[in-house]
Amino acid sequence: MKIRVLTLFPKMFDAMSESIIGRAIKNGTLDFEAVDIREYSADKKHFKCDDAPYGGGAGMVMCVQPIYDCINAVDPNHEYKRIYMSPKGETFTDKTARRLAECDNLLILCGHYEGVDERAIELCIDEEISVGDYVLSGGEIAAMAVIDASARFVDGVLGSALSHEDESFANGYLEYPQYTRPPEFMGLKVPEVLLSGDHKEVDKFRREQSKQITRARRADLLDSID
Ligand code: SAH
Repeated sequence: MKIRVLTLFPKMFDAMSESIIGRAIKNGTLDFEAVDIREYSADKKHFKCDDAPYGGGAGMVMCVQPIYDCINAVDPNHEYKRIYMSPKGETFTDKTARRLAECDNLLILCGHYEGVDERAIELCIDEEISVGDYVLSGGEIAAMAVIDASARFVDGVLGSALSHEDESFANGYLEYPQYTRPPEFMGLKVPEVLLSGDHKEVDKFRREQSKQITRARRADLLDSID
């Protein structure tokens, strides 16, 4: 999977070199690059990329020209799924992550300040995605969440292909609680059944725990399970 993130703050994506995603980039499963929009500014003196909003109001708006030129340089033939991170977008879920993992090429535009000139969205963007009902100061952290969650569904990114089929949301339920050594800590014991070696009983216990925790915390999820 090829991913290009367009941002005014490419250094924020240094964090992508760590852990599971970092390993996938190193071994070539993911081809990732953060592209600096500033380099595409027509203003070759100050590389200005934002300006005051028409109609007035607080803050600055990212200009359409550098974004338009940057997107067309990275993706001249529109071979990428082009996403704009935005609180006004469709809310990102496990389902969205699975759908995006099917894309060979993903381009993600990160806004900053008050956002981007609407014409950049109109001219260049296929889809707007939000990570939740709150406002971040920029799209970078949102983009990292989208990339991380989607890349987990790309073959070869997770160590074991099974690991995401067992997790929260995969089958509509939240995941059961996990335990590891030691068997007892500060008087708290690991449930006996998990030490029993009886896989059938372990599965049954985990399924019940999954249902219980989903009912208690996210009853809304149960409505969509058939
Ligand atoms: N003025 C805008 C918010 C701009 S926040 C509004 O009220 O709708 C600056 C940038 O952060 C946005 O352009 C977007 O790229 C990103 N951003 C903020 N909140 C986000 C969210 N919940 N999901 C995805 N991106 C978000």
